[in-house]
Amino acid sequence: MRAAVMYGAGDVRVETVADPKPRESTDAVVRVVSSCVCGSDLHLYRSMPAVPEGLPMGHEFIGVVEDTGWDVTGLKSGDLVVAPFSYADNTCALCREGLHTSCPEGGIFSGAQAEAVLVPHAEGTLVRLPVEEDSALLPSLLTLADVYTTGHHAAVTAGVRPGKTTTVVGDGAVGLLAVLSARRLGAERIILMGRHTDRTDLGRRFGATDVVAERGPEGIERVRELTGGEGTHTVLEAVGHLDAYETAVGVVRAGGVVSRVGVPQYEQAPIGFSTVFGGNITLTGGPTPVRSYIQELLPDVLEGRVEPGLVFDRSVDLERTPEGYRAMHAREALKVLVRP
Ligand SMILES: [Zn+2]
Repeated sequence: MRAAVMYGAGDVRVETVADPKPRESTDAVVRVVSSCVCGSDLHLYRSMPAVPEGLPMGHEFIGVVEDTGWDVTGLKSGDLVVAPFSYADNTCALCREGLHTSCPEGGIFSGAQAEAVLVPHAEGTLVRLPVEEDSALLPSLLTLADVYTTGHHAAVTAGVRPGKTTTVVGDGAVGLLAVLSARRLGAERIILMGRHTDRTDLGRRFGATDVVAERGPEGIERVRELTGGEGTHTVLEAVGHLDAYETAVGVVRAGGVVSRVGVPQYEQAPIGFSTVFGGNITLTGGPTPVRSYIQELLPDVLEGRVEPGLVFDRSVDLERTPEGYRAMHAREALKVLVRP
């Protein structure tokens, strides 16, 4: 089969690789119907050292079950499914608490920008979709694999609810869907920090009440001006760079919560008296336990109450996946759909 493989920064190739086959009795093989390029793929695209053995890319996909191990009884060939970006058994103590990303049997997918994917723990991982594979809802349903559920995770862990104000740091797909999620959970005011007008316009459509284009200390000052000097109750950080973290702790209200869902590209950050401790700030966030949110978010997508798939502004076929990376890296595209 054909698959996208990264060999280092800026070097993505589409190659012929071995067809996946079920190895364990709990595995399934899924033929990919649609996949996409993620902001976290871009972190690698910018920084990965060159490697002789490439890294299979992609962790978001919708597909059709083709083959199952003999222990997989809840799924059958022909089922259309969405996969969370991480697989898990969905039966252990951590999964039952909704922490699927910490499942000892789990892991993060790689290799979804391909014609087919091997899915470990298929029954605990895949969620059947009640639509056909040519449904117009597919782009929105694909966002459940990562970017929409991640925006939702940011809003949930921050405690967004009616009466609360929130700032979203970052106008990538996760930031915009954090706006949509905050709106859906009833946030009273949503300040979106981003400087790409086409993206922040979509953010307004998703529910942002204010947009702040300034960055760094000026951006912090602007959010504080908008909130009577106080900052917002919750801050959803959807970038992952240290300056975005510093902005997040700069705009949070005393007693507030900062949730980080951008994959951190740093190990150390200020948490002292003037940044976090003095204001009784709570830091939360982490990788999204997607499987625990899909059933809750699915009905609004199926019934058209939300349209998270609007974040896709370009589509390429699998052979042109490298062009998708380049376009997202150059910020010509917000999020690129990949169709085998
Ligand atoms: Zn588990």
